[in-house]
Amino acid sequence: MVPVIALVGRPNVGKSTLFNRLTKTRNAIVAEYAGLTRDRQYGEATWQGRTYIVIDTGGISGDEEGIDAKMAEQSLQAIEEADAVLFMVDARAGLTAADQMIGEHLRKRNKRSFLVANKVDTVDPDIARAEFSPMGLGDAFPIAAAHGRGINALLEASLGIFPKDDAEVEGEGDEAGGEAVAEGEEAKRIPGPSEKDGIKIAIIGRPNVGKSTLVNRMLGEERVIVYDQAGTTRDSIYIPFERNEEKYTLIDTAGVRRRGKIFEAVEKFSVVKTLQAIQDANVVVFVMDAREGVVEHDLNLLGFVLETGRALVIALNKWDGMEQGEKDYVKTELERRLMFVDFADIHFISALHGTGVGHLYKSVQESFRSAVTRWPTSRLTKILEDAVQEHQPPLVNGRRIKLRYAHLGGANPPLIVIHGNQVEAVPRSYSRYLENTFRRVLKLVGTPIRIEYKGGE
Ligand code: GDP
Ligand code: GDP
Repeated sequence: MVPVIALVGRPNVGKSTLFNRLTKTRNAIVAEYAGLTRDRQYGEATWQGRTYIVIDTGGISGDEEGIDAKMAEQSLQAIEEADAVLFMVDARAGLTAADQMIGEHLRKRNKRSFLVANKVDTVDPDIARAEFSPMGLGDAFPIAAAHGRGINALLEASLGIFPKDDAEVEGEGDEAGGEAVAEGEEAKRIPGPSEKDGIKIAIIGRPNVGKSTLVNRMLGEERVIVYDQAGTTRDSIYIPFERNEEKYTLIDTAGVRRRGKIFEAVEKFSVVKTLQAIQDANVVVFVMDAREGVVEHDLNLLGFVLETGRALVIALNKWDGMEQGEKDYVKTELERRLMFVDFADIHFISALHGTGVGHLYKSVQESFRSAVTRWPTSRLTKILEDAVQEHQPPLVNGRRIKLRYAHLGGANPPLIVIHGNQVEAVPRSYSRYLENTFRRVLKLVGTPIRIEYKGGE
């Protein structure tokens, strides 16, 4: 499971600054809670090939009334959702009563916590450490979030407490040290479909869009191997099953409500649960409510799916009983607003009546196949050569960018590594052209593609 780390502390200690530095995010998920000046923010972050989720919180001021009380509540919830807490204090301001109060809470909750003294660009790190040692939370990690100082040591310690997922580390392909991979060697680094779980499908969406109805529908006629699983409210339920001799595991974020079973208890929508399910899936089935159209939170979540690179199938639910005019409007709206995920199949379904649900499986399979096929280097290189011949890369400083060969560097999403000269100068538009070409020739559907360049040969 992807670890979850919460940033907690008084307002103004630098939590957002650290959040932005860790996630470099364009796609923070903002939890929707009405009436708050600042909500929890969720983002995906990667450090040394390890992926984790960061939660930023409004802050706890120690003066918990009105809006502050609400912000504190947000922070407390984030602490509950997190596997570890980075407790930030302001080295310039020194130790305050509010810091003491938060420290006390963390100690009581028995959460894995790391004390972080920010803004050490303004004071001596040793003095900062001494200042906060009376809190009894161990030595503070001195950092300057605004300048990126001390971050590595902090991440090494805080992420170090979680077991490493080797497959993930090797599969990420974003390491600077990734050497050119010789022919025939690259396939080893690519994680394939898991024999045990089959295709892992996460059913994702806002509350009430019809996720549990869909889960029940999808499992309807199938033989479910294992069903009930214990878990906390933060955990999704994993349901392995077989359909037409194909293995699947459904990751159910809604909590299937079966009469007389524990899952009947209404489970609250949890952003962490959703994000973890996306991370852990091969294919995300993203459910939206046709009657509500595409709302902001849908776009946020879709942005996150895109960032993780998971394969994607979109299900527009509650298509039953809609007027033709409404249907036309929704379709136009979708085309316009979902352009950024135009690689994904869209299905118009009724989970309640079962209409269109069977077709979802076909898209799930196709997306999965597109996402994990191991394309040989010769094939990718041929596509690259043809693309270059059809459309030369531009001249840079009077020399033409040379793209020599391409190989697969990862799967789910497919990562295509292109080797050549002056690759740092390849314009975005040209990358897009290559991406489209690979997509078209390889007939990829339902998955984003990543392209990475390696220079110097
Ligand atoms: P938050 O309320 O805890 O999220 O705090 P912010 O991230 O909004 O930061 C509060 C203020 O502290 C801003 O003016 C930041 O520019 C500043 N700040 C954040 N990190 C640093 C740092 O490392 N050094 C200094 N000197 N200022 C910082
Ligand atoms: P979840 O919170 O996303 O798991 O949503 P539920 O599956 O609990 O569904 C929320 C509500 O929408 C329930 O009242 C369902 O009966 C209803 N619903 C779900 N799917 C459909 C559908 O396809 N058509 C209609 N009309 N209602 C649906």
